[in-house]
Amino acid sequence: MTKILIVEDEDKLRRALERGLADEGYDVTAVEDGDLGVAFASDEPFDGLVLDLMLPGRDGIEVLRELRARGFPGPILILSARGELEDRVRGLDLGADDYLPKPFAWTELLARLRACLRRKAAGEASLLHAGGVDLDRVRRRLIRGAAEVELTVRECELMEHLIRRAGAVVSRDELAREVWRDPEATRTNIIDVFVNYLRKKLEKVGAPGLIRTERGVGYVLEARP
Ligand code: CA
Repeated sequence: MTKILIVEDEDKLRRALERGLADEGYDVTAVEDGDLGVAFASDEPFDGLVLDLMLPGRDGIEVLRELRARGFPGPILILSARGELEDRVRGLDLGADDYLPKPFAWTELLARLRACLRRKAAGEASLLHAGGVDLDRVRRRLIRGAAEVELTVRECELMEHLIRRAGAVVSRDELAREVWRDPEATRTNIIDVFVNYLRKKLEKVGAPGLIRTERGVGYVLEARP
């Protein structure tokens, strides 16, 4: 049975999560603050964690950092209230696997959790290729020949999406929806900033010019061999 730990201080939501995930067949433990979250996750072999960000005791970011530092291997899915975008991005950079803005649809939480658990279980079989470059989604590395460069979680997700759509024009709206999971992400230049980060890293592994700008529309990852 898949063991899930929920760390959420809001009573109503915590109880709903606990009941809902148990109904789906998960073995669920739920705690209400960050210190208990760290204690439980360190003592018992959980397969995954659903973690709120604003918590009494250690907050979600501190819990995340601590658990990753201790080598907690399972996926960590962050729940965050509106306006915590920077924390969400920080969370992903610190080793969270996904995040879900509140309020969320129940079906979406279940789908994301399943996807997180599946990706972790798939382990090494997660190399993607396009344009002569490999993307290792588990180790978050861009690889070309002997050259390797590490990506942040966001860069990795962006690269993954561009690779899956290689050769096609991917709009900024699509990236906002599918990679940022926030349609509002097009209101700032955050997408362009991350595309530029990726371009610099592609250059480092000797694959400059792989991502082309389609003016006024979005980006294309060249599907050259
Ligand atoms: Ca909270």
